[in-house]
Amino acid sequence: MKGRWVLGVDIGGTNLVVAAVPLTGGKPAAIRSEPTYPERGPEDAVKRIASMAEGVVEQTLKAEGGCQEDFAGVGIGCPGALDLDQGVIVSTPNLGWDGFPIRSRISSALELPASLDNDANCATFAEWWLGAGQGVESLVGVTIGTGIGGGYLERGQLMRGASGSAFELGHTTINFEGRTCACGNRGCLEAYASGPSIAARARDALTIGDKSVLSAMVEGDLNRITAETVYDALLDGDALSARLIHETAELLGIGLANVVNLFNPEMIVLVGGVTRAAEYLLDPLRESLSNRAFSSAVDACQIVPGSLPATAGVIGAAGVFVIDEVA
Ligand SMILES: [Zn+2]
Repeated sequence: MKGRWVLGVDIGGTNLVVAAVPLTGGKPAAIRSEPTYPERGPEDAVKRIASMAEGVVEQTLKAEGGCQEDFAGVGIGCPGALDLDQGVIVSTPNLGWDGFPIRSRISSALELPASLDNDANCATFAEWWLGAGQGVESLVGVTIGTGIGGGYLERGQLMRGASGSAFELGHTTINFEGRTCACGNRGCLEAYASGPSIAARARDALTIGDKSVLSAMVEGDLNRITAETVYDALLDGDALSARLIHETAELLGIGLANVVNLFNPEMIVLVGGVTRAAEYLLDPLRESLSNRAFSSAVDACQIVPGSLPATAGVIGAAGVFVIDEVA
């Protein structure tokens, strides 16, 4: 493949990120990020991605020299179920852009060849390519943020499944009569352990009368509670928040016990905003996992936080372009 750089585009439920990533792997030379505003629709997002990309290209060429032709293409990471052959979003509860031909629209806006993959696949790939999972033969990535995603790599190959939606860990059922999920199912892992779900569980607890500093922190407006608020309250010694984070870890442990029994991975890497609470999550998560999965498989599996905070998605999106082009 010709060129020096690949643009990575990470479309998240909360932020859009665009970066210039070296074709051979490495730290982004330039990176831009802004809120996604999913309600403004996908056309608006494509316009803003194009203008961010222009800034990233300009900054990269200014710092590193070279010319436009040094950009070989653009790799796009997007949440939800995607039609990877057609480059179309099939269903994405956290964005609501169903049916949008995201790959061709970004490709024509940037005048570059483009690849598309699930955002969690991209983040998993990045951790294997440049992060905590380097050299690992069977790697599971779990992204915990606005939603919960998952990816699985074996010997450097991403498992994509028959229609491109393999490893949708967030939408596996952990409670058959549980909370309603954005996907329409009940009891999905995401309906408990994503950032917004942690906040929703906090609101539920306060509504039924649990006492906590959370109410005062948001001046009584419970809608302002986020997973960040819960984490800040935990650091402040709040008992309800400590319980919520502990339960979140237990629930993640249930979801991951299923993964460990199914795939027997060498490593599980946790990526995304909620992993800011990693030091409070990891021990109870391991305990919950150990109580449920085969001990030989648990013993063989390291569980670690990712080592590319805030950039795994965008680096992996670019990396997937590179492997797709080479393949
Ligand atoms: Zn779901």
